[in-house]
Amino acid sequence: MKSGKQKRTEIKVKRKQRVAKIHSRAKPPERPLRPVLGPPVNEALLAPYKSYGVPDFVQRGFYVDMPFQCKDCGKHELWTGTQQKWWYEVAKGSVYSGPLRCRACRRKEQARRDEARRVHLEGLERKARRKREGSK
Ligand SMILES: [Zn+2]
Repeated sequence: MKSGKQKRTEIKVKRKQRVAKIHSRAKPPERPLRPVLGPPVNEALLAPYKSYGVPDFVQRGFYVDMPFQCKDCGKHELWTGTQQKWWYEVAKGSVYSGPLRCRACRRKEQARRDEARRVHLEGLERKARRKREGSK
């Protein structure tokens, strides 16, 4: 038979274990103060800006993947944090600009613009040539 003291000690130990268990359960999972979910923003490399305030990603301090819909074909694409870092810090894109078209439509749009420029310059050249020949 157990003595009263032994019983009390056992009860105390069990109570302690129970309390410890509850505390360990109640504690929220530890997280870093600022979870880093993408490439860090290097403010020194951004194109200069002032007019409309500090952009979200600058305030956040890192880039996060951003879903967007192509304005031409409606396809859903992801603008990744890495692509954003390149656009803002290497290509020096405006901090207020974002993606408009999917990769395929961007290529098409670029080709269309190049062609329009070529036709325009050709027209100017023809005009200048006519002028030169006319004034002879
Ligand atoms: Zn598209």
